[in-house]
Amino acid sequence: MQEALTEELIELCHKLGSTSQDLAILGEGNVSGKAGEDYFLVKASGHSMGNISAAGFSRVKFAPILTALDGPDLSDTETKNLLSSCRVDPEVDPQPSVEAFMHAYLLSLEGIGYVGHTHPTPLISLLSVDGCEEIAGLRLFPDEIVCCGPATAFVPYVDPGLPLARAIRSSVEAFIAKFGMVPKTIWLQNHGLIAPAKSIRDVESATYMGEKSARAWLGALSTGKDLVPMTQQAIDRIHTRPDEHFRQKLI
Ligand SMILES: [Zn+2]
Repeated sequence: MQEALTEELIELCHKLGSTSQDLAILGEGNVSGKAGEDYFLVKASGHSMGNISAAGFSRVKFAPILTALDGPDLSDTETKNLLSSCRVDPEVDPQPSVEAFMHAYLLSLEGIGYVGHTHPTPLISLLSVDGCEEIAGLRLFPDEIVCCGPATAFVPYVDPGLPLARAIRSSVEAFIAKFGMVPKTIWLQNHGLIAPAKSIRDVESATYMGEKSARAWLGALSTGKDLVPMTQQAIDRIHTRPDEHFRQKLI
């Protein structure tokens, strides 16, 4: 099972890390997948998604990472040591990405099997614009709702690693309380996109559509004219209609 998961994650990385997609270059971004109740696979620190191999993934135990989310703040050295000690087999598993904290949290949520994190250039532009938090709650076109959900969870800029994982948890908990579902897309201010999903295919569609959505927003904002986002009634209609659920399965 672990070999199959590794192959799936390699394929996902190669797609998301392809230079033609403009979602992540060099060491940017990371992906993860749940290997069972005890541990998950996450991209190791310093690897490039575009050409990653099996050696670029680390097996990380859930329990100590999730415990740290409720523990005291950690220094950079303590963080590095904790991540190092959470590896299933330190002889084999490389040092995991510092974003293993947020991957562990998101993979612990009901129905989430995979997480994709990217830095799409148009989304970084949008997430550097005043008012981007409000934009996260709006929708411009129906397929954005189908792939990215009825709204996007928003996380103000914080330091990557444990502080970011805690900020993501608080944003996601508020989103679940409001919408009754885990967000399909999460925006990180001045940083990028997270797509937590049940399947690899859903991670891909949320990521690709999230990137398109950012381009649509930048285009609309650049006209200087008044914006006409979809009404809440139209969003709710698309989000709940049965044929859209059918389309969701096809995308
Ligand atoms: Zn990032």
